[in-house]
Amino acid sequence: MERVTGIKIHNGLSFGYIHVYEPQKEQLNYSESQKPLIIASENLTPGETVRFGKISVKALVVTNATSTSHTAILSRTMDWPAITGVKINPKWHNKMAIVDGYNGVVIIEPDEATLRCYQIKQVEEEQKKQQLLNAYKNKRSVTNSGKELKLYANISTPSDIHKVIANDAEGIGNFKTEFMYLDSLDYPTEEELFRAYKKIVTQMGDKRVVIRTFDIGTDKIADYFGLDKEENPALGYRAIRIGLDRPEVFETQLRAIIRASAFGKVSLMYPMIVSVDEVLKIKKLVRKNMDELKKEGIPFDENMEQGIMIETPAAAIISDKLAEMVDFFSIGTNDLTQYTLAIDRQNEKLDEFYNPHHEAILRMIQMVVDNAHKCGKWAGICGELGADATLTEQFVRMGLDELSVAPSMVLKLRKIVREMKVEE
Ligand code: PEP
Ligand code: MG
Repeated sequence: MERVTGIKIHNGLSFGYIHVYEPQKEQLNYSESQKPLIIASENLTPGETVRFGKISVKALVVTNATSTSHTAILSRTMDWPAITGVKINPKWHNKMAIVDGYNGVVIIEPDEATLRCYQIKQVEEEQKKQQLLNAYKNKRSVTNSGKELKLYANISTPSDIHKVIANDAEGIGNFKTEFMYLDSLDYPTEEELFRAYKKIVTQMGDKRVVIRTFDIGTDKIADYFGLDKEENPALGYRAIRIGLDRPEVFETQLRAIIRASAFGKVSLMYPMIVSVDEVLKIKKLVRKNMDELKKEGIPFDENMEQGIMIETPAAAIISDKLAEMVDFFSIGTNDLTQYTLAIDRQNEKLDEFYNPHHEAILRMIQMVVDNAHKCGKWAGICGELGADATLTEQFVRMGLDELSVAPSMVLKLRKIVREMKVEE
């Protein structure tokens, strides 16, 4: 038995066989056996991580990943216990192991007593989850004094919808559509995108589905986009910048989303906004595509909401102006922290400096919420900070209307909200 400690990324408990993943050497066969796998790898790209969702992966153990890296975010969405800061030993390959995400520990070839102890712990955890579900399913997320904080879920792939429904989320607050592009060998067609969006929107019934247009770039790279290597990709050619620069790709996605709006409650959302001008350009493109669809006799929701992510200090500071142009704001605290504190969210060496509780971030959140409300618009958070239970009460006091979090966090936060007493 070997016990290795790392830094926890996502809690939970899983058992499986370690697969030491070396992307340069091999490709995992995604239609492989149903054996429960623990992926152990030095690094994982978002594209690789999302593809693990297709096989029976149960946990991640990595050497390099920060708490707001896309690998970490995906592990939370998938509800895979995950640990970082672990030096991977190739000899672990195929060995049975336990990943204890609560304590940031991986145990390779556990002895009988350890195995039994963790099996009991897992049963207890399952019971706790069930109790949470029994107590809070189908309840609204309102405080004792009547303040409501909607609890939505973030998703990365259409198959995540099962977790959204199982955890009784009140909507989808950020469908990160770029992962469908990462999981494709070429640009998805309008029809492919439309079918995927329609399925999700239909399954969510009358609940809101916020679809974010692709946030490609930085570490989310699809080869067929042919993006150049950049010195500072987080500050580079990404997200809405690509969308506006390559209207043919962007409009294909816009048409697919607009068409899906005929089947439920769709909100369109744009990432990485920095200016009024960008919003004007996007809205012009949306109008053009709506007019074309109308001419073609294709139905859609004329009143579909359009909102923006507040991920840059620029957007936060001019949120008074932006609020007049859009229907809602969703604050992307992962990037907002990165750009406000000038700290690369991907660099583990800077983890101790990456502080989303920084006063500058909290003041910006307040400013954005106030500016939204002055114009009668709603404001939420879809970055990882939204799931920080130590701030839930403060978020209610700040007037946030919505938090969008990993599906497994929804009921935990609903419990906090329902037990909270917020005085006016
Ligand atoms: C964010 O930046 O907070 C966000 C939600 O977007 P992503 O993490 O996908 O960059
Ligand atoms: Mg972001």
